[in-house]
Amino acid sequence: MTIDLDAIAANWRALDAMSAAGVQTAAVVKADGYGLGVGKVARALAAAGARRFFVAVAEEGWAVREALGPGPEIGVFSGHMPGDTDMIHDLGLVPMLNSIEQMTRHFEALPGHPFGVQLDSGMNRLGMEPGEWAAVREMVLGLGPRLLMSHLACADDPDHEMNPRQLAQFIEMTEGCDVPRSFAATGGILLGPDYHFDLTRPGVGLYGGLPYEDARPVVELDLPVIQLREIAAGESIGYGNTFVAERPTRVATVSGGYADGLSRHLSNHGVLFHEDTPCPILGRVSMDLIGVEVSHLGEEPKFLTMLGRHQGVDDIAEAAGTIGYEVLTQLGPRYVRRYARGRE
Ligand SMILES: *Cc1c(COP(=O)(O)O)cnc(C)c1O
Repeated sequence: MTIDLDAIAANWRALDAMSAAGVQTAAVVKADGYGLGVGKVARALAAAGARRFFVAVAEEGWAVREALGPGPEIGVFSGHMPGDTDMIHDLGLVPMLNSIEQMTRHFEALPGHPFGVQLDSGMNRLGMEPGEWAAVREMVLGLGPRLLMSHLACADDPDHEMNPRQLAQFIEMTEGCDVPRSFAATGGILLGPDYHFDLTRPGVGLYGGLPYEDARPVVELDLPVIQLREIAAGESIGYGNTFVAERPTRVATVSGGYADGLSRHLSNHGVLFHEDTPCPILGRVSMDLIGVEVSHLGEEPKFLTMLGRHQGVDDIAEAAGTIGYEVLTQLGPRYVRRYARGRE
């Protein structure tokens, strides 16, 4: 598995360039940098110019702080959970407080420690409801939050009526607050300047995923061929005999399976590539192995490519019935992650 850190940096710069000069662009590095290795990813993003980072939970802040040192701000979407106080304090994390309960916990345990506030503009996932916020707003603003943020539910669909509805709700909840505001993740950046406010928070677009169609691809994944065999018409491949050859077939068994994040839904369905030539998956994807048709190749392949110039994370996601986010974050710990630089 090869991760192109320059492509991540280029994607950050391109997303940064889409908003006006005064808008800051953060970087979301939750889930181990979307599965790519948060230490390397965070350092590459910091070198590209990112100064604010976000993780999902306080535990993830440790590796980011370790990689970045004391300067950059690290926000925590899940806020201030019971047991988080020491981590938030020691690592200098900035929790996005989601409820009155979290506010009480934070202001009592760490008075004066920086915080942001997450507001629910309609997604009904995290953040304070409009009524709740109205009740505490003046008091909380008096304590100097760093950021007021909310999250879009349907930003990957630019025509969705939910987008302007959430925008109006967010404006209503934050108007006149005189605190920096953040509303857009990758999809929201692409919706245009009305959605950018003071700080954007791209994640998946940095790593080459949709909805950022123009992203530079970041991950390449080659699976070594362990064995090649010829099977006769009528013979089957893999668990459950779900593929039966209709003609003599040459099969490569490659090292990789659902334990490495390659979905079982790719069974008899997905393809790998040998250079420019697609090679269909034959039979079930097993935990560690996949059978692949190579009868049509003129040579014996040493490896086959799962992710590369002909097939990206969203192509695999479509074949597997999921989204690029899930493909990325499932890329397993058994792959050796090699970090490349300087390929323009
Ligand atoms: C994951 C997440 C992001 C980043 O979203 P992408 O779609 O990956 O750009 C931003 N904000 C919040 C609250 C998130 O949970």
